[in-house]
Amino acid sequence: MCGPAQCHNPIHCIVPPHMLRVMALRGDASVQQMARALLHQNEEVRDERAERMTGGLVPEDGRSGLFVSSALARSVPDRHVCDRRIHDGEGKAALPGRLVRGEGDAPTGDPEVDRAYDGAGTVFELYSEAFGRNSLDGAGVPLTATVHHRRNYNNAFWNGTQMAYGDGDQKIFRTFTELSVIGHEMSHGVVQYSGGLLYQGQSGALNESVADVFGTMTVQRKLDQDVYAADWLVGAGILGPDINGRALRSMKAPGTAYHDALLGQDPQPYHMDLYVDTTDDNGGVHINSGIPNHAFYLYCMYLGGNAWERPGQVWYRALQQINNPMATFHDWAAETMDAAIALFGAGSCEQVMLRRAWRLVGIAC
Ligand SMILES: [Zn+2]
Repeated sequence: MCGPAQCHNPIHCIVPPHMLRVMALRGDASVQQMARALLHQNEEVRDERAERMTGGLVPEDGRSGLFVSSALARSVPDRHVCDRRIHDGEGKAALPGRLVRGEGDAPTGDPEVDRAYDGAGTVFELYSEAFGRNSLDGAGVPLTATVHHRRNYNNAFWNGTQMAYGDGDQKIFRTFTELSVIGHEMSHGVVQYSGGLLYQGQSGALNESVADVFGTMTVQRKLDQDVYAADWLVGAGILGPDINGRALRSMKAPGTAYHDALLGQDPQPYHMDLYVDTTDDNGGVHINSGIPNHAFYLYCMYLGGNAWERPGQVWYRALQQINNPMATFHDWAAETMDAAIALFGAGSCEQVMLRRAWRLVGIAC
């Protein structure tokens, strides 16, 4: 049984609970304490958010209370104006903290502040220039972020209204203001404002996967990398010196991002035969997202070129059209097929290769 705090009002953390739980089991005393505190803090934020959302904002039918019609998201003004507001949390838990860099302000010299600012601008550009979307909500909402959130905080999240980034403890995590992480967290906002995908089970794993897809796309477009040049990693370089791993997740090879004495093996599957049935992690939202992640990767490899062009357009259109917060992987695959037909035509290479990609991860559509 999942309560409303889990289903409707999650915070979207980049470091999933399964990683924190193994740290709490295997780490030394200080790591155990850190991991337990993080797990506890996540629950607290969930509860705070659940309280804010009571009073009829969450409809009985299970849809996200933050549902915004796709008509609004599509009503893009002629000119998109980025409005970044980066705050310093000063090691405290309160959000958003002290405003330290607004839109157009000069760099502060604090690398966390400046990376959060530049990264938010890069994500804004991706959505504006590649998808015609004016900010996360399609209507120019300011991009609010907090860096130096709490002390030695080993996580980053989107809480429904803003991004927050910890500094990491410099042992297990170095930083969280890395571009794929920034793109991931902000894309949770885009998913939310596009009608939402409930953060539970398969729809939750799709929410995670869409955030990974657009997070990696952010990096690839910034570096002008085609699908063959890209590393397809989420959180590349954020793992600290004590950890044996390249990243949090790999879309190219789910299950291989890290293999470490503390963290164990990356648990992500790449095929439906390996789907993980679990009640942990809201039903494995950070685990089973490996399956749709890998389908997107395969589709990109089939088509070549840039991810944000044909494959990205198909995924973006599917997100705008699906209108089903409880979508399963199969529902999503079908929606992407419809999007490929609408954009490129029935029988097009884009449609045929998409079906092939979904079949390779065990989803017939
Ligand atoms: Zn996420």
